[in-house]
Amino acid sequence: MNISRRKFFKYCIGSAASLGLAPALLPKLVKALENPGVVPNIIWIEGASCSGCSVSLANLIGDCSEYGPTDFPDLLFNYMNASFAKTFMTAAGDHAVESLRAAQQTDYILVVEGGVPTVFNGMTCTLFSENGVDVTMLDAVNELAAGAQAVVCVGTCSSYGGIPATGENLTGIKSVSECTGIPTINLPGCPAHPDWVAATIAKVLCGEEIVLDQTDNRPVDLYHRTVHYTCPRRPLYEKGHFATAIGQEGKCFYELGCRGPYTIADCSARGWNNGFNYCIQAGVPCVGCAEKAFPGDQLIKH
Ligand code: SF4
Ligand code: SF4
Repeated sequence: MNISRRKFFKYCIGSAASLGLAPALLPKLVKALENPGVVPNIIWIEGASCSGCSVSLANLIGDCSEYGPTDFPDLLFNYMNASFAKTFMTAAGDHAVESLRAAQQTDYILVVEGGVPTVFNGMTCTLFSENGVDVTMLDAVNELAAGAQAVVCVGTCSSYGGIPATGENLTGIKSVSECTGIPTINLPGCPAHPDWVAATIAKVLCGEEIVLDQTDNRPVDLYHRTVHYTCPRRPLYEKGHFATAIGQEGKCFYELGCRGPYTIADCSARGWNNGFNYCIQAGVPCVGCAEKAFPGDQLIKH
């Protein structure tokens, strides 16, 4: 098990630049690499979601260093040392639950993907059955968050409710912090960028303090400027050259409803798809997926 932790730290050190890890973090990663037994396990649970954040994290594989994982389960279980991640683990049934309960007896980080259904006693979303009793996402998140060293919310749904919390959904979706009353490290995005997830988990694993913004509990090093701020189409915005159709080149999407000026995330600086492009470079406006109000239209201009 310690070997897997070492692999994750080696990977983070080798990929520090692409993950956006500050040079000051490297000595801590090296120290954690030398003493991997002190880092916690990861328990990854998923509630009301599309699994898009897991799929997004899987894209990290394409940018791996020489120490990089071969596929997503390799990253999750052999590098990040996940003890429970139901969607991807090979263990099932009682064996999976045993793995979860064993991890619960150790120091662990809880990673949550998806919102939490709260009405009908949470019975619209059960995670597993234990001794003949269905354990709901609501029960699991309350129990596991209470014992975790840190709770990381991956994606807008677990951070704020996101798409499942909108419209006529009768299941009463809430965010993890709303359900538990426990402060969470929020990585909003629909999906969350894989670098945001890997870098944050690396920091938590090696005991680095993560500074969060006061309003939405996001790491300030990842969420501090609007998409608009470093958008390559910003000069076109300043000149008033506005697109009249999706996909137009050489135009700004503001008049098509682009939410870049209302959305704090580093997409335009970091890029997606291993830095190859991102929404606006691909010819569509930003829809504000990293904002608390997403997918509604109550976004605030920053
Ligand atoms: S496309 Fe959107 S983010 Fe880019 S400059 Fe125009 S309004 Fe700003
Ligand atoms: S550019 Fe906007 S819509 Fe696209 S991923 Fe970033 S925050 Fe989400």
